[in-house]
Amino acid sequence: MSTKLKIINPATDVLIAEVETDSKDSIQNRFSRAQTAQKKWAKTPFQERHRAIQKFRDLVIEKKEELAKTLTLEMGKPISQSRNELNGLIPRIDFFLDHAEKVLSDEVVLKDSAQTLEERISHEPLGVIANISAWNYPYFVGSNVFIPALLTGNAVIYKPSEFSTLTGLAITDLLHKAGIPTDVFQTVVGTGNVGSDLLTHPFNGVFFTGSYPTGKKIAEAAAKHLAKVQLELGGKDPVYVCEDIDIANIAAGVADGAFYNTGQSCCSVERIYVHEKIYDKFVEAFLENVKGFTQGDPLDDKTYIGALARRDLHSKALDAQVADALKKGAKLLCGGKPSSRKGHFYEPTVFINVNHTMDLMREETFGPLIGIQKVSSDEEATKLMNDTAYGLTSSIYTKDKTRALKMLEQINSGSVYWNCCDRVSPRLPWSGRGHSGLGSTLSVVGIETFLQPKAWHLRG
Ligand code: NAD
Repeated sequence: MSTKLKIINPATDVLIAEVETDSKDSIQNRFSRAQTAQKKWAKTPFQERHRAIQKFRDLVIEKKEELAKTLTLEMGKPISQSRNELNGLIPRIDFFLDHAEKVLSDEVVLKDSAQTLEERISHEPLGVIANISAWNYPYFVGSNVFIPALLTGNAVIYKPSEFSTLTGLAITDLLHKAGIPTDVFQTVVGTGNVGSDLLTHPFNGVFFTGSYPTGKKIAEAAAKHLAKVQLELGGKDPVYVCEDIDIANIAAGVADGAFYNTGQSCCSVERIYVHEKIYDKFVEAFLENVKGFTQGDPLDDKTYIGALARRDLHSKALDAQVADALKKGAKLLCGGKPSSRKGHFYEPTVFINVNHTMDLMREETFGPLIGIQKVSSDEEATKLMNDTAYGLTSSIYTKDKTRALKMLEQINSGSVYWNCCDRVSPRLPWSGRGHSGLGSTLSVVGIETFLQPKAWHLRG
């Protein structure tokens, strides 16, 4: 029996599409086809694989406006930010295009003078990989996996989030148009149950982006087949603002880090610590910025705060953090409730007088809500920044580089920032510690991860 997934625009509550979901049988069929196709794809000359990804890149540029609109309609991202995501995709693809060949090349690590012994390392694709994805940056989190995986000769079964399915299908269409064989890149459609059915198959690698609770289930499912598993999970990313900074500038930058993409970025600023000497002034400047954000129709160019993608849980989760903070004595400066607009919107929310007994300073929020806590020293700030089960990114704002580097060395997170936040670079590994995940995407490390080494011992 066929089942349809309903795609509802979170900004208007209007049904925009119904898409056939995958069944256990269709998944079985896809998996077998991927296994056969992967062997041929791995033997396809690298230049041919490179050409197809290059063509995909060009198609993304050509179709940018249409793709941005689809993304905005199905997940509520402001249109200017959907365009930014597509613009940001291009340098990521370029990085992989420029570096994959070198990573794939053999390395001779020993050749003795008599030429009787050679030791060599070659790099082979993992095989068929599952790419299970989140909705918040579908172009980024998807392409971090499927671009290097395809370039290095793997077949990919991609499961876009049920909240960005149309984008997932658009990506699939463009990859096929670009020349990636249809069995080498396949997409399964559905909710978490479809993801769970997918993982009953013996994938050679499972690459997941999503929440910590789902990530644990993914790791358990992958373990049954001893599949390589990589997890990019949530964060509770802190910022510490020292007393020596330019308040107006930094307050604007940190507010953007907290509320961009409606606070639904894995590396959104989720908690702010401010030195007591500038606390009141910083809070005032920060609040002024937040009050200046335009919330509204995500299709409007002027909108900065859009709708929340997940009507199934988001408002409830935000309401729970608000109630917990209020009960424990926090002071609400703005927001604190769903917006009165039709659709699924939440007012930008700022709390002060917060502390670490409150969920909003310890549990991932993933929405337009932030707490600002006063601290009296760098030591106190470092301790609080590390007081989390997550470890994705952490940021320090100060004019003093030595002071920043000293603190950042003590911070347990995969990325650290001095005078910036909410930033990802294709040249640097993207990885989380603790509840933020396992393994790295991006950089050369994020290409190597789709390969397995073979050791050659050659005696003449
Ligand atoms: P989610 O965990 O609810 O879902 C992620 C994906 O897993 C979806 O495609 C979903 O259908 C699928 N899924 C759900 N249950 C499954 C199961 N039992 N087996 C297999 N697949 C299953 O997360 P979400 O709401 O899509 O994304 C938000 C989360 O993603 C946040 O925690 C965010 O921080 C995180 N995230 C992390 C990064 C990163 O780079 N670290 C990037 C983006 C998002």
